[in-house]
Amino acid sequence: MIICKSADEIKVMEEAGKIVARVFLKIEEVIKPGVTTAFLDKVAEEAILKENAIPAFKGYTGRFGKKPFPASICASVNEVVVHGIPGNRVINEGDLVSIDIGVKFKGFYGDATRTYKIGKVSKIAEKLWNATREALDIGIEKCRVGARLSDISNSIEKRALEDGFSVVKDFVGHGIGRDMHEDPQILNYGPPGQGPVLKEGMVLAIEPMLNQGTCKVEVLNDLWTVVTEDRKLSCHFEDTVAVTSNGPLILTRI
Ligand code: MG
Repeated sequence: MIICKSADEIKVMEEAGKIVARVFLKIEEVIKPGVTTAFLDKVAEEAILKENAIPAFKGYTGRFGKKPFPASICASVNEVVVHGIPGNRVINEGDLVSIDIGVKFKGFYGDATRTYKIGKVSKIAEKLWNATREALDIGIEKCRVGARLSDISNSIEKRALEDGFSVVKDFVGHGIGRDMHEDPQILNYGPPGQGPVLKEGMVLAIEPMLNQGTCKVEVLNDLWTVVTEDRKLSCHFEDTVAVTSNGPLILTRI
């Protein structure tokens, strides 16, 4: 069941979303060659706690019911698609580093991802980064009253294919609210015009994950880290978006 939020609830979700956006500003101050992903996690966690919010990923056992995620952010470098565990991996010039941040604030969740280009990146990395960022914006544009859910999915896939990239099928976007993952699941592929009709008050985490090569992914032995099967690059952007009578309202940007 898709839960529609009241205007007041969306206001609180906007507060949660803006906290996520401000934490990204802190990450942007420190992300550079030579720092570890564990350091970025520390910076983010401190910033989240300072906002009186709760890091939503820490201790999360997920839809998979597995060992709790040990950190406050996911840090996914290059071939890592999503759910990279922060640790002693050092960030290098030329890397694509995706940082996924989730917070809980006043009972509601905010969830967003940015991928950072570290210094000068390869042409293909640049192209993948641009396509993924644009795919997110194109998907968000479809978050309108009366549209069908798979209009979002289809528009994202179309943008990916335009540049010859593939779309990850094993992980998807989701509804969000009092739970981090609510209905519906939002595929990043498939035909348009299917699924539920979007209504005012739906809040969706739109999150295209685009791969340079194969769409196939595998999960490493830590049970969290998802990598591309061919170890080529992956890129991920995400925002939490409310469907309103005035069009899409992006909650996780300032
Ligand atoms: Mg998400």
